[in-house]
Amino acid sequence: MHSISKLSAICLATACLVAGDLLNDKKCRTLAVDVAIVGGGAGGAYAAVRLKEDYNKSIVLIEKEKELGGHVSGYIDENGVHWEYGVSQFNDYGPARAFFERLGVTPGVPVRYPLTPEFVDFKTGRPVNTSLPPAANVTAAFQKFLEVVAPFEDYFLPGFWNFPPPDQIPADLLLPFRKFVEKYEIQAAVYNAFQVTAFGAGDLDKALTLYVLTAFGPPMIRFFLGQATLFVPASRRNSEVYEKIQARLGDKVLYSSTVTKSERSASGHTLRVEESSKGGCTIVKASKLVLGIEPTEANLKPFGLDKREKEVVDKFNYQVVHVGIVSHPSLPAGKQLVNTPEAAAGGNYLELPKPNFIPRFDHMAPNSTNFRIMVISKEGTTVKDAQQLAQSSLNAMIKAGTLEPAAKKEKLTFKVWSNHGNMHAHVSADDLRKGFIQKLNGLQGYRGTWWTGGAFSGQLQAILWAFDDILLSKMYP
Ligand SMILES: Cc1cc2nc3c(=O)[nH]c(=O)nc-3n(C[C@H](O)[C@H](O)[C@H](O)COP(=O)(O)OP(=O)(O)OC[C@H]3O[C@@H](n4cnc5c(N)ncnc54)[C@H](O)[C@@H]3O)c2cc1C
Repeated sequence: MHSISKLSAICLATACLVAGDLLNDKKCRTLAVDVAIVGGGAGGAYAAVRLKEDYNKSIVLIEKEKELGGHVSGYIDENGVHWEYGVSQFNDYGPARAFFERLGVTPGVPVRYPLTPEFVDFKTGRPVNTSLPPAANVTAAFQKFLEVVAPFEDYFLPGFWNFPPPDQIPADLLLPFRKFVEKYEIQAAVYNAFQVTAFGAGDLDKALTLYVLTAFGPPMIRFFLGQATLFVPASRRNSEVYEKIQARLGDKVLYSSTVTKSERSASGHTLRVEESSKGGCTIVKASKLVLGIEPTEANLKPFGLDKREKEVVDKFNYQVVHVGIVSHPSLPAGKQLVNTPEAAAGGNYLELPKPNFIPRFDHMAPNSTNFRIMVISKEGTTVKDAQQLAQSSLNAMIKAGTLEPAAKKEKLTFKVWSNHGNMHAHVSADDLRKGFIQKLNGLQGYRGTWWTGGAFSGQLQAILWAFDDILLSKMYP
C-alpha cells in the first residue's frame, strides 16, 4: 500500500507539470511578440530581419545553435586560417544582392582553386577511364535543359506558390531525372549539374525532375550559360552575412534554445522555450508563428501537429547530408577525386553513385593538406557511419594502388565535421498527382502558423530569401 500511494503522489506531480503548468511556469520569464520565428537559418533569419525592419513587427527568433546561419560553416585551422566548408556561394537571384547591401556585406567574386579531376570508383578504389564532356556539348545541353524547364519555372521558383493543379502538372516534372535526361539527350549537362548541387537530390535514377530542379534549377543552369553570377562576401567569410544579421537582431534572438512545449491556434500561440546551456526558460506569447526548421517528426514534436498538418509533413522522405574537412598523406595535392562508378567509363554521365556516397575529395588550397568531403546518405546515417564511408573509400583507393600508401598506416584525420541532418524533402510522383503541393501550400496560415525553409521552397539561400518575400506578403497582405 505504502509503495502504491508514494507512486501515485509522484505520478500526480508529474501529471500536474505536464498538463499545463509548463506553459504557465512562473519561474520562466515571459515575452509577448507579434511573431515568433523558430530556426535561424536561411529561411528563418531572413524572415526575422524583414519582419522587424520592414513590417515593424515585434519578433523573437528561437535558434538551437549558438549562432545563426544553419548550413553556413566556418573552420579556423591550427594555423589560424579560415575555411568555408558548408555553404560556398550565393546566387545572384531575387533579393540576394540587395540583402547583402542592406546588411553592409560587400559582395566579391568566388575564388576557385583549379583542381585536376581524377575519376575513381570509390567502391573498388580503381580509376575509371572517362573524361569531362567537351565544353560545346555542355553548353548545348544546358541550353536545351533551360529551354525545356524555363516555361515551368514559375511552378517551383521561388517555392511552389504557383504550382499547377494535379491534373495539369507537366509530365516532364514527374519523370525520374534519368528518364528526363534521356528524353532530351542532355547527358552532357549531368556531370556539372550533379557535381555542383544536384547530388543532394540523392539517387538521380529515381529522384523526380521537379526535385532535382529545386536542388539545381534555372538559376544554376543560367550560371553555366554565363547568364547569371554567383557571389560571396568580399571577406571570403560566408558567416559574415549571418553575423551581420545577428548584430541587427540583437536581443531578439534566443540562442541555444528550443521550443519544448506549445499551444497553437489561429488566434495566437504560447511557446515554452528552454535554453540548453544555462537552463533558463521563456514563455513566449505570439500572434503568429513562423517555422523555419526542417519539418521532421522530431523537430515538430513540441508543436502538437493536428491530423491535417501531420498528413502533409509525414509524407516527406529525406537525404541526410554530412560535410567535413579531412586530411591524409595519401590524398594528392591539386586533385579532385571524383566518385565515378565503373559503369560510367567512356562518358556514361548518367551512371552516378547512389546513397550512401561521397561525391568527391576536393583539395582545398595549395600548401594545405585539407580536403573537403560531403556524404549524401539515407535517413538515419550517423556521423560514425558517414566517417566510416570516407575511411573505407580511402582504404579502397590505397588498396587498388590508385593512391600511394602513406609511410605509416594512418587513418583519415577528421579536422572538422558537421552533420547537416535531414534535407531535400521529397514526396512521390503519386503523392504529387494526389494534390500534395496544394495541401502543403494549404498549411500556410493554418492555425496561425507559417512555414519557410527548403521543404517549402528550394535548396539555395537566395531562393529561400525570395520565397520569404512572398510568404511575408501573404502573412501581412
Ligand atoms: C554542405 C552544404 C553546402 C551548401 N552550399 C550552398 C551554397 O553554396 N549556396 C546555397 O545557396 N545553398 C547551399 N546549401 C543549401 C542551403 O544552405 C540550404 O538550402 C538552406 O540553408 C536551407 O535553409 P533552411 O532555412 O531551410 O534551413 P537551415 O539553413 O538549415 O536553417 C534551419 C535552422 O534551424 C535551426 N534549428 C533546427 N532545428 C531547430 C529546433 N528544433 N529549434 C530551433 N532551431 C532549430 C538550425 O540550427 C538552423 O539554424 C548548402 C547546404 C549544405 C548542407
